[in-house]
Amino acid sequence: MGRSAKDKMKLAAELVRKGATMLAEPCPQCGGIQVRFRGKVHCTSHEDLSEIAGTEGASFGDVVAMVKGVLISKMGEAAHSLEAEKDLDRQQRLTALMNSYFELLEKLPGKGQSP
Ligand SMILES: [Zn+2]
Repeated sequence: MGRSAKDKMKLAAELVRKGATMLAEPCPQCGGIQVRFRGKVHCTSHEDLSEIAGTEGASFGDVVAMVKGVLISKMGEAAHSLEAEKDLDRQQRLTALMNSYFELLEKLPGKGQSP
């Protein structure tokens, strides 16, 4: 089964939360983003990070942090679309969407801390 780039980014983010460091140098093999985790360098692009990240269960805090990150980036995307949107119906849908993202963010624990 092929993993989407989104999944890979998710896994990379998960690894970073588990203490991995993103490296500035791209992978010599495929040019992908590399991370150093537990003393080893892994490519987030051509390696299967799900094994490294492990499925031993992300903590609730990990998941909350991930959801926050996703919501914030989605809000940014929606804001960009809204800026360019001329159609009033679509504007309304976008603002409703942003409102739900915002409500969800408000419900997450650790409010007030910058992500
Ligand atoms: Zn690679």
